[in-house]
Amino acid sequence: VSQKKGLILNYRDYLRSPLFPVVLTVSSYFIICIPFLVCDIMGDRWGWVQQFKIQPSRRPTASTLLHCAGVTLYNHVFLVLPASVAQWAWRPPVDLPDLAPSLLELIAGVISNLLLFDFQYYIWHLLHHRIRWLYVTFHAIHHNYSSPFALATQCLGGWELVTVGFWTTLNPVILRCHLLTTWVFMVVHVYVSIEDHCGYDFPWSTSRLIPFGIYGGPSKHDVHHQKPNTNFAPHFSHWDKIFGTHADFKVN
Ligand SMILES: [Zn+2]
Ligand SMILES: [Zn+2]
Repeated sequence: VSQKKGLILNYRDYLRSPLFPVVLTVSSYFIICIPFLVCDIMGDRWGWVQQFKIQPSRRPTASTLLHCAGVTLYNHVFLVLPASVAQWAWRPPVDLPDLAPSLLELIAGVISNLLLFDFQYYIWHLLHHRIRWLYVTFHAIHHNYSSPFALATQCLGGWELVTVGFWTTLNPVILRCHLLTTWVFMVVHVYVSIEDHCGYDFPWSTSRLIPFGIYGGPSKHDVHHQKPNTNFAPHFSHWDKIFGTHADFKVN
């Protein structure tokens, strides 16, 4: 009995650790990337997948995949790991709530977080394209590829990764989200960010599941990589429509 109790205590301790959200987001990033990576590698051998490719003639080469894997590894070793150690050392473990949130509360929390992040990143992204110094210094690395693929999602400069990480950590606190809502948001956010870059517009794309063009999704973000002065919002389409930066699907 005591051994069983010990296991349960340990399991709760892992969940309470400030490292848990980091492990959750990093592992979900790589796990979610895998199926898209397999589609890229299989290429024409999987014709039924290639019919959904946004830019059919352009597929990542081994060297572009390796470059992005290298940048991602570098960012994880020199930024994510030190930030995790700092969190682990300085932040106290969180209290696990006794009750789970209601399903409605969870969905509302995830959507609120996505909307808030969408607004913050829209402004950040617009400034990093309009101000030449900001673009060259921080954001240009993400535009190495005009035909994105899953592994390009985190092919980011350090400053961009830190900003994005800061918001996704802080926003659930500002919005007073339940811990479970926060974790679900983090995984959903990783998924939609990868989907934005995956280079495929599958029938189950978020933008196809959410009606009336409310959600931009992969086809809109793909256009941003082809025409970088359009579609600055990462997820929804309203800010681009309001500020006149919206552009529809286009293949060069
Ligand atoms: Zn992008
Ligand atoms: Zn950009």
